[in-house]
Amino acid sequence: MSVSGDPAMATIMPRSKPFPQPPHRLTSADRLMKAAQPDRHFAMPTARARVPIQTRNACCASLRCQLCPADAKFTAQNGLKDLYAHPGVSLCLNTRATRFETTGDVVSALVLEHGGQEYRVRGDRYVLGANAIQSPGILLRSGMDHPRTGVGLHESFGAGVEVFLNGLDHFDGSTITTGLNYQLYDGPHRRESAAALIYFENRWTYGFRREHGRTRQTLPLVIVTEDLLRSENCVVLEHASASHPNVIFAGASDYARRGLDRALSLLPEVLAPLPIERIAFRGIRATESHLQGTLRMGRNPEASVVDERQVHHRWRNLTVVGSAVFPSCSCANPSLTVAALSLRAARLAVDGA
Ligand code: SF4
Repeated sequence: MSVSGDPAMATIMPRSKPFPQPPHRLTSADRLMKAAQPDRHFAMPTARARVPIQTRNACCASLRCQLCPADAKFTAQNGLKDLYAHPGVSLCLNTRATRFETTGDVVSALVLEHGGQEYRVRGDRYVLGANAIQSPGILLRSGMDHPRTGVGLHESFGAGVEVFLNGLDHFDGSTITTGLNYQLYDGPHRRESAAALIYFENRWTYGFRREHGRTRQTLPLVIVTEDLLRSENCVVLEHASASHPNVIFAGASDYARRGLDRALSLLPEVLAPLPIERIAFRGIRATESHLQGTLRMGRNPEASVVDERQVHHRWRNLTVVGSAVFPSCSCANPSLTVAALSLRAARLAVDGA
């Protein structure tokens, strides 16, 4: 993924080796925060290239990441081309995995649907990684039930804030989100209220200021808290062969909400290094777009669906990858953790550990 990141981050997030790419350019606001909180404010790790590589250009902060015009962001197209070109790999487009077939405690086939036809794929090991809604949906449709299958759907809980700056221009960073602040992350408060992470945005989420000469004196922040897995949040099937799963989501926990309240109340203190005019709360965000926890991992087969190697506790030739296996929720974006866990699961499967 050629991730860009801040080497100083190793002080709180130990790494086995340095980030492959140098950190992105911090904004002026980030630099003031980093000078005042060197062990709590870092350049955001991101798979948006800081310097060009063979398959990707450098990010130019054009903020159109849904479809990057510069091909700077890691995607399956630019990052896994060699994999798809491998003779042993077949990529089936416009194809839906509907269910597994099993013989006793062994998965014996995967059933696919393509062009209105059903096909069966047979193999020794099956790897399921269809996000935290579709993966449990496929297992439920296959009759591969477990009391925790589909249970515990969650994501981190987020809110938007706009900070009006006094005389400091913003939006001079080199990518879309430039800074991460850990001032409210860990500590004894987590007994009562959730950890919070503050993302410093280099995109004008709330537009520019209208006052002459002050258009860029605004700093958008996103505050994200961890959350708890709750059995009332789940993925179910209306009936055994339903083609699409239903989501039952009762919302974020009180623990997460207390964490956000705490973060908002302490924000002026955290942002003290900045020349602040005022802070405006911009509302709870609809989603953090990271669905997790519906096939959680664990050592106890009663309380978890897959083991610590992400192998199903009952069907031992089935490995589950993706954030569906998360047994807890961080306030950090999960993509790098998902990638690392998937590589680990593949290595353990290949080594037959
Ligand atoms: S901000 Fe960077 S990654 Fe996003 S669209 Fe622009 S160039 Fe691409």
